[in-house]
Parts: sequence; C-alpha cells; structure tokens
Amino acid sequence: MKAAAFAYARATSVAHALELLTAHGETAKVLSGGQSLLPAMNLRLISPEFIVDIGDLAELRGVTVEKGILTIGALTRHADLLKSHEIAVHAPLLKEAVAHVAHPAIRNRGTLGGSLAHADPASELPACMLTLGATIIARGPGGERRLPATEFFTGIYETSLAPQELLVAVELPVAAKGTTHFFHEFARRHGDYAIVGLAAKADVRDGRFADLRLGFFAVGDRPVLAGSAAKLVDVAVTPEVLTEACSALDEELDPLEDHQATSAMRRHLAKVLLARCVLSLLGRSDLQAGVSV
Ligand SMILES: Cc1cc2nc3c(=O)[nH]c(=O)nc-3n(C[C@H](O)[C@H](O)[C@H](O)COP(=O)(O)OP(=O)(O)OC[C@H]3O[C@@H](n4cnc5c(N)ncnc54)[C@H](O)[C@@H]3O)c2cc1C
Repeated sequence: MKAAAFAYARATSVAHALELLTAHGETAKVLSGGQSLLPAMNLRLISPEFIVDIGDLAELRGVTVEKGILTIGALTRHADLLKSHEIAVHAPLLKEAVAHVAHPAIRNRGTLGGSLAHADPASELPACMLTLGATIIARGPGGERRLPATEFFTGIYETSLAPQELLVAVELPVAAKGTTHFFHEFARRHGDYAIVGLAAKADVRDGRFADLRLGFFAVGDRPVLAGSAAKLVDVAVTPEVLTEACSALDEELDPLEDHQATSAMRRHLAKVLLARCVLSLLGRSDLQAGVSV
C-alpha cells in the first residue's frame, strides 16, 4: 500500500519547524528518521495532511556532557548512540539497550526523539529514560518545557507533547561512579520488539542495594518505573524478600494480551526478569534456590 496524499515541507530551523506545526495544527506530523511514521502512513494507519521534515536540523543532533549532565539531541540516530564514547561512558545502560532496537538499517535512520515521541510501550528507549531519570525537553510556540520522563509517556503511542511541540533533546544525569546496570528483553528474535523487557540501574554497597531503579517495558500501555524496587533497597535480600518483590509486580503491571503472549505470560516473564536482574546485580546466584515467581 502507499500513503495517502500529503503536503511536505523541509524545515530549515527549529523556529521554522514550529511555525509550520503551528500553522497546520493537528493535521501535521513531524518526520525524523521515518522508521515508524512512514510504515504507519504506508499502511494507512495514519494519514497526516502535512509532513514537517526536521531531518536537516543539525542543531538537534549530537551528544554533549557538561556539569554532570549528558544532553542528547532529539535527531541523534540510534547508530550514533551506539558509537558514542560519551554514551558508553556516561550512560552504558542506554548503549546496551540501543543494540536491541530493530536492525542496523533501521538504527541508521531512526532517532532517539522519534522513538520517544512514538511511545510504543514495547520500545526499549522509553523505559531507559524512566530508569535513568531523564528530563525530556520540548519546544513549542510558547517556549520550552522540561518534562520528567515519568510524566512524558501517557498511553499507547501517546505522550504529553502537544501537536505544535517538537521534542528537541533529552538530558540524563551521568552515571555515578560505582553504579551498575542490567538490561534484558525476551523477544522472538534479536531486533524484534520485546515481549517483556527490563532496563535497571543500581547502586550496590556492601552486598545491598543502596538504590535500584527498574524500568519495565511491554508490560502495559506505557513503560513502568516499578515501585517494587523499594522492597529490595537497604535490606538484606533473601529468597523471601525477592519473592515478595516479584509478587508486588502484580499490583503495578497491567500487561496487554496480543499474538505474542497472554497477559499472564507477560506477568510471569516480568518476575523472571526481576529475579535474574537481582541475582546478576548482587552477584548472588545462591538466591536462585527458594525464589518463587
Ligand atoms: C522492522 C522494524 C522493527 C523495529 N523494531 C523496533 C524495536 O525493536 N524497538 C523499538 O523501539 N523500535 C523499533 N522500531 C521502530 C523504530 O525503530 C523507532 O520507532 C524509530 O527509531 C523512531 O524514530 P524515527 O526517527 O524513525 O521516528 P519517525 O518515524 O520519524 O517518527 C515517529 C513518530 O514520532 C514523531 N516524531 C518524530 N520525531 C519527533 C520530534 N523530534 N518531536 C516530536 N515528534 C516527533 C513523528 O511525528 C511520528 O509520530 C522498528 C521499526 C521497524 C520498521
């Protein structure tokens, strides 16, 4: 199938893009890498009347580090994130996660901003933003808004971005010395969307979690920063404590059913991931016996 007819303009600056979005309102769509937008248009799942191509806006591309903050431009491609020294050093979880996004051809065009604005609940990068405590920066006709990632994702393919706003950048605190991470997803094949995934970050001191952030994806209509993590922080983790934390996930996750998995299967896989994550981050294979998921 081919997309329905649409008008097209290539923005020459952020201000120009905002003018175009303001003029065309809800009938317009931003085009970044096109890896989600164009398939959706070709399948006629959406038919925007006006496309604002921001692909030439070099000011929205790149990674910088200043005063403990890593800033990533919205147009930074997945392939650039994978190659970036700054990402490898200051956000190693993100680097590991990006390797699971689709395939090289898609990573060569797809962008961080596009992935976040698209807000697929099975995507890796939105969950990483929750885990890493990201601030998402949006610019619109009224100026700039800074949104905590926890307030950005509002539903399946829904965010708190207004139709006239552009996602321009993401800020992440650089990884503190001594923090570790865990990333794993269950997928049918490498590069497929996850059936369930977990992006976690931890500060482990004297064999205990001083801090633990658990970003689950493909477990509901949006990524989830699981409060169950609190049950594992500042305590001696025993099989009973871990079992309780896994059970607590039942309250927090609301997985959807689709052709890949039932809701019950997704709940089970999320608990398996949590148990594996804790074993791995604490280096405690002894916990395995006695944990019930
Ligand atoms: C075969 C295949 C497999 C895939 N597998 C995965 C996967 O495993 N994991 C995964 O996460 N994704 C996957 N994807 C989806 C894709 O990789 C990402 O969604 C993509 O990278 C989005 O970035 P983009 O720049 O291409 O966005 P686009 O397609 O250009 O845009 C996506 C949406 O975001 C909006 N948008 C884009 N940029 C902005 C901005 N700066 N401000 C405001 N709105 C904006 C657009 O209007 C559109 O609605 C897959 C895609 C394909 C085709």
